[in-house]
Amino acid sequence: MDAIERVSISTPFGVGPVNCYLILKNGLTVIDPGPATTEAHEELDRALAGLDRSIDDIDRILITHPHMDHFGLVDQLAEESGASVFAHEDAVERLSDPIGHFEAERAYFRPFLLSMGMPTDTVETVLELPEPYTDYQDPVTVTHEIADGDVIDVGIDLECISTPGHSPGSICYLAASEDIMFTGDHVLPDITPNPLLTLVPGSDDERTRSLPTYLESLRKLLDREGAVGYGGHGEPILALQDRARETIAHHQDRKERIFELVADREPTTAYRITREMFPNLPATEMFSGMSEVIGHFDLLEDENRVVISERDGVKRYEVGTQERE
Ligand SMILES: [Zn+2]
Repeated sequence: MDAIERVSISTPFGVGPVNCYLILKNGLTVIDPGPATTEAHEELDRALAGLDRSIDDIDRILITHPHMDHFGLVDQLAEESGASVFAHEDAVERLSDPIGHFEAERAYFRPFLLSMGMPTDTVETVLELPEPYTDYQDPVTVTHEIADGDVIDVGIDLECISTPGHSPGSICYLAASEDIMFTGDHVLPDITPNPLLTLVPGSDDERTRSLPTYLESLRKLLDREGAVGYGGHGEPILALQDRARETIAHHQDRKERIFELVADREPTTAYRITREMFPNLPATEMFSGMSEVIGHFDLLEDENRVVISERDGVKRYEVGTQERE
């Protein structure tokens, strides 16, 4: 549709540029403007000028999920334009206090990662890494909290589909009349979104079960409209439901590989399995790797295929007795 524009916005992150979408109907709507950098601001400014618009003209800003490469710039734009800001209710806490959230995560995940068998110095490195990046986001005042099933009229109707997993409060915006869906990082064309572990919204002592939640959210899209996905990174996804199916199958394979790694051996830790699955993982990717492996253990535990035992504060996984018979 002519009224929808994709703008590629630079980020200082390894993931590369992020997609910002503009809907030029019934005023001006922006989905995910990008991180809080001067470059991102300039790039958006230039893109809008090319369409005879300016930041002043923005009426609404929609956030797909509370990761700073997507929402960092929202507050500045809202301040300049007076735009309303929409986000899922589970995202509000981390959007309004990103630094507080970062500190709460650090406090929870230090003992957690140790209990998963990660050596102390690696834990410290992993937890210090995100610190320099906290500058690329400003706290956001959400003016409209949304929930699953809500419809936002931006000149076209956008149905909000709650899809937690990659992040709590993740939303896909379905434009059924155009047969497209804005997927944020829930479905991406070239990379498998990571089901990052984080705190359960509203809690400071409970982690998310990100991978089981994520897979459930992928299945939710399979029988929905929206044949073309407009993701947070990369080109449009031409067969969205096929891509969701492919992502589910990828995780199914990974789960079986991890099960094979724990079979026929002494009880072992999630850290050891992460090192075996991803032998050359740099420290910057270690938390993602651990999140994925622990996610698969969550699934295997749900299926009663692995059990956990704890000794000296360290949790070890082994094949359940049911599987041995
Ligand atoms: Zn993300």
